Amino acid sequence: MKIKKLEGIIPSVNYHLWEPCNMRCKFCFATFQDAKIILPKGHLPKEESLELVREIAAIGFKKITFAGGEPTLCPWISELIKEAKKNGLTTMLVTNGTKINEDFFTANHDYLDWIILSIDSLDDETNFKSGRAITGKKTLSVENYKKIIDDIKNFNYKLKINTVIHHFNYKESMLDFIKYAKPERWKVFQVLPMKGENDDFIDDFKISKEQFEEFLIRHQSLKEEGIMVSENNNEMMDSYTMIDPSGRFFTNKKGFQEYSEPILKIGIKSAYKQLNYNYEKFQKRGGLYNWDNKKINYKK
Ligand code: SF4
Repeated sequence: MKIKKLEGIIPSVNYHLWEPCNMRCKFCFATFQDAKIILPKGHLPKEESLELVREIAAIGFKKITFAGGEPTLCPWISELIKEAKKNGLTTMLVTNGTKINEDFFTANHDYLDWIILSIDSLDDETNFKSGRAITGKKTLSVENYKKIIDDIKNFNYKLKINTVIHHFNYKESMLDFIKYAKPERWKVFQVLPMKGENDDFIDDFKISKEQFEEFLIRHQSLKEEGIMVSENNNEMMDSYTMIDPSGRFFTNKKGFQEYSEPILKIGIKSAYKQLNYNYEKFQKRGGLYNWDNKKINYKK
C-alpha cells in the first residue's frame, strides 16, 4: 500500500516495541500490560513490526527511537533497526545497558545512529531501592557504566544519557560522571506518575517541582555547556509521539495512556490523527534538535 506523507507531522516517534525488561524500576511507566488484551503475547510479531517501521518512514517521521521494556531483549531488534535505516530514518535505541556488547555494537554499527543509556544514579543503594537493577537485585556499578560508555564511543555511536529524578536521587550529583561521559545530550526527567502503569509505588518516588529544580541547579554548568536538557512533568505530558508494543499510537496527555486503534488495522494516517498530538509542546520541550545521522569519531 502506498502511503502519502502527512503534512505537519511531529517528526520523531518512540516505538515501545517490547514490554519485557530485565530491570524492575518501580517508577517505570512502560509496563504495557494492557497490550496483552489486544495481543496475547503483548507485542507485534516480527513481520508486522517491520511493516510498522516501513509505514512510520512512509508517513513522514524522520527519527525513530526504539524503546521498551528493554528493546535489546527482542530477538529481531537488529532487523528493525536495519529496516528503519534502509527507509531513511535516523535511528536511536534506549537501553538500560545490560545487554549491549561487542556483538551488538558490531551488528548494528551501520544502521544505528544513537545509543541512549538510562542511568539514574551512581549509588548502588539508590539503584537498589528504585529497582534499577537486574531482576531487581544486581545493580550496575560506576565502572560498569563507564565501560559501557567507553565501548559506545569506541564504536563511534552518538551517546545520549537519560536520567529520571525521584525521591531517592534528587539530592545526588552526577556532575563528575557526566563530565566523564561527555554525552551529546543528557536528558533529565522528573519522575512521572502514570495512572495504570506505576500506581503501586509512585507515591514513594514523586518529587515536587522545587526538588526537581534543586537537582537541576546542582548541574547548571552542564546546562550552560548545552549538554543538559530537562523536562518536568508538565513538559513531558502530551509532547511525545509514541507507539505501544501492540502497534497503537498513544499519548499521556490526561495522566494515563490513551490509545489509537491499531495502526496496521486502520492505517497509520488515521491512527495518528485520532490522538491530536501537540506539535507546539513537542517544539517547546526542545524535541527538535540536530539529530542527523553522522557518526562521531571520538578518537579524532
Ligand atoms: S529499565 Fe526502563 S523499561 Fe526496564 S523497568 Fe527500568 S524504566 Fe522500565
